[in-house]
Amino acid sequence: MFGLIGHLTSLQHAQAVAQDLGYPEYADQGLDFWCSAPPQIVDSIKVTSITGQEIEGQYVESCFLPEMLANRRVKAAIRKILNAMAHAQKHGINITALGGFSSIIFEEFNLQDNPQVRNIKLEFERFTTGNTHTAYILCRQVEQAAPKLGIDLSQATVAICGATGDIGSAVCRWLDAKTDVKELLLIARNQERLRNLQAELGRGKILGLEEALPLADIIVWVASMPRGVEIDPEVLKKPCLIIDGGYPKNLATKVKHPEIFVLNGGIVEHSLDIEWKIMQIVNMEVPGRQLFACFAEAMLLEFEKLYTNFSWGRNQITVEKMERIGQMSVKHGFKPLLSS
Ligand code: NDP
Repeated sequence: MFGLIGHLTSLQHAQAVAQDLGYPEYADQGLDFWCSAPPQIVDSIKVTSITGQEIEGQYVESCFLPEMLANRRVKAAIRKILNAMAHAQKHGINITALGGFSSIIFEEFNLQDNPQVRNIKLEFERFTTGNTHTAYILCRQVEQAAPKLGIDLSQATVAICGATGDIGSAVCRWLDAKTDVKELLLIARNQERLRNLQAELGRGKILGLEEALPLADIIVWVASMPRGVEIDPEVLKKPCLIIDGGYPKNLATKVKHPEIFVLNGGIVEHSLDIEWKIMQIVNMEVPGRQLFACFAEAMLLEFEKLYTNFSWGRNQITVEKMERIGQMSVKHGFKPLLSS
């Protein structure tokens, strides 16, 4: 049995879908109420691989909302993630992906130091961040979508916003080692971490967002922003490929320009229909087949009976591990999303 721990993108989103999730009494409630709401299993899932193998899973709604971070409700945010993990473990789930902000909160607040949740001692090998598969899928999206727009990687400048993050640093490693991309632009706020990444890669320019955007042929957004940013399409190169891997999305509004192509980043499409309702609730375009790559990682580990925290800790993702999860992804019928 695999598990997925997820959350909604905003209080407004949570109120709008409370009924569909099975708790209509939450629909009129404000942030205080959501801060004290317990985790719940809201969906049972069946997935069939193209090999014919079938697996079952459960979706745990953590009731975390990004507003909790934006409004300094950090203790509530931490409680949400630990309670959701304990809930998954209590239900005997072998391997659970920590979706969206779950893994970010886990790492940021060193939750590995708090394994005891009431009477449950968390067994961390039952959890994976799913970030190795997400990083792999983002890189395949870069490699496969760029030529379709006439962008030649060997001549291309790629800006990675969130470059020092777990996913961003893995994307940088892959683009450096596995492609002939011309230039990498590294964007984040903490300068020391940027310099460390630059030293590890032996390349890459450290730039602010405003300086970097007009230089980039491809922009990979993987910053952990509770709210998206606005960008002016006029400042971007034409054509420009933007791969938005954030959850919630890093771009606040859809960029509408005929020469700017925005792709939902870190999303996979399965070759067969999945039995579940949760992707409809999070407004996935093709909810029967499309899903977050981090969730697909838990499915892949279940298919392979690899009950281990495959993705764990920050900035530990190697190109070899990305290749390994990539082989499993192809074997079981997942493909990177290439249409917007
Ligand atoms: P991390 O916390 O490890 O990294 C976040 C990165 O973003 C860091 O480099 C951080 O650096 C940077 N950052 C944060 N705020 C800003 C800002 N305002 N401006 C510029 N840079 C910023 O996160 P992950 O790598 O784990 O996740 C990244 C994103 O991917 C998140 O939005 C997450 O929800 C999403 N995600 C998507 C998945 C999918 O399946 N599609 C799966 C898992 C995650 P600094 O703090 O120095 O600025």
